[in-house]
Amino acid sequence: MEFELATLSPSERALQDEVRTFLAKTLPSDFRPGLGIAAPHDPSFSTLLAEQGWVGMAIPVEYGGQGRTAVERFVVTEELMAAGAPIGAHYVADRQTAPALLKYGTEQQRRQFLPPIAAGECWFSLGMSEPDAGSDLASVRTTARPADGGWSVTGTKIWTSNAHLNQYFVVLCRTAPLGEDRHAGLSQLIVDLRAPGVKINPIPFLDGSHHFNEVVLDGVFVAHDMVLGEPGSGWGQVTSELSYERSGPDRYLSTMPVVREFVRAFGGDGASARRSAGAEVYEAVGAITARLWAIRQLSLSVARSLDAGAAPAVESALVKDLGTCFEQLSIELMRLAMPSPLGEIGELDPAGDSMLERLLAETVLTGPSFTLRGGTTEILRSVAAKGLGR
Ligand SMILES: Cc1cc2nc3c(=O)[nH]c(=O)nc-3n(C[C@H](O)[C@H](O)[C@H](O)COP(=O)(O)OP(=O)(O)OC[C@H]3O[C@@H](n4cnc5c(N)ncnc54)[C@H](O)[C@@H]3O)c2cc1C
Repeated sequence: MEFELATLSPSERALQDEVRTFLAKTLPSDFRPGLGIAAPHDPSFSTLLAEQGWVGMAIPVEYGGQGRTAVERFVVTEELMAAGAPIGAHYVADRQTAPALLKYGTEQQRRQFLPPIAAGECWFSLGMSEPDAGSDLASVRTTARPADGGWSVTGTKIWTSNAHLNQYFVVLCRTAPLGEDRHAGLSQLIVDLRAPGVKINPIPFLDGSHHFNEVVLDGVFVAHDMVLGEPGSGWGQVTSELSYERSGPDRYLSTMPVVREFVRAFGGDGASARRSAGAEVYEAVGAITARLWAIRQLSLSVARSLDAGAAPAVESALVKDLGTCFEQLSIELMRLAMPSPLGEIGELDPAGDSMLERLLAETVLTGPSFTLRGGTTEILRSVAAKGLGR
């Protein structure tokens, strides 16, 4: 496992300034920040961002993207996450579907999907997990059977984020019967979420918000030209796709809007804020900053090595594990440092008076999901441990 020291170049720092200026101008002053990838689904923001050239940055110019580097995408993503910008519409397609299409998609699929993804207008969900297949994805039971001109797909997907808002999802399913090699016979299909036979049932979060869903597929027709990659190669594709999902700023900055509010309220420039803050507040900010800076360094290093052509799957797993555990720890550090009664869980009100209270309540309620989505802590540690042995 290797992490080279990485820093930003002058042009990358200039890009960082540009994004900060854009966000300061664009996000309204009473804007309620989103928490990482659970941020609001706002098509108009996605389009505006795309007009700046900041969606589909890693998509080649010939497919409507910007052909920029992983580090440049890192710089933009970091600013968006830190501000809690409403990236919910385009984010998964930009982060994950576009690289998968570039790697495995047909020329027709690339021409059909990549330009609208880069324009912020084509949104994808991920159809991997099932009621009895989460960490153990190879046991998916959704099945595609040959049909005239394509496949007929039947099964149930679960925890499908934003399926009720997005246009497509990439479904991992079985296209050949289960044999001795349980990783064989799996395929990825691009499925239209509005196709006949698709039923989307909401699953509310603990805080009552609606991000994810159960998606029931009942004989949904998928044409041959919507198979992503080779039929039967789904396992290799899905595991390689997961490394795009794991190492970016979205895995350690979900709670940053809360940290910013915390600093504003207790550690900011105002003399009264400083007077009211105890030593615990300064210790919490110090502990958060030191950890954040170290994890950011690792994540930036992964982005640099992606640009150098490496496939840092093990390093990505480690960054996600450290990053999401840090996100959860940061909530506790802030909560415990707060003057009573604000930090007491029972007193926190999702509709409370201050932005800090509202955001903190939301993070306390949704924080447990940080170490589950995209691969649980235990699974990531096992990936990292196996990698260390190599
Ligand atoms: C907010 C959120 C959004 C999500 N969005 C999506 C989405 O859009 N699309 C999608 O497909 N999925 C999505 N998921 C699902 C997510 O990927 C799964 O929750 C995750 O992979 C874990 O699977 P599971 O929930 O079935 O838990 P399980 O796999 O049943 O795990 C339960 C517990 O057992 C542990 N465990 C399991 N196997 C092992 C093992 N071999 N060794 C040690 N410990 C183990 C796990 O670490 C965990 O603690 C989302 C989840 C969340 C929380």
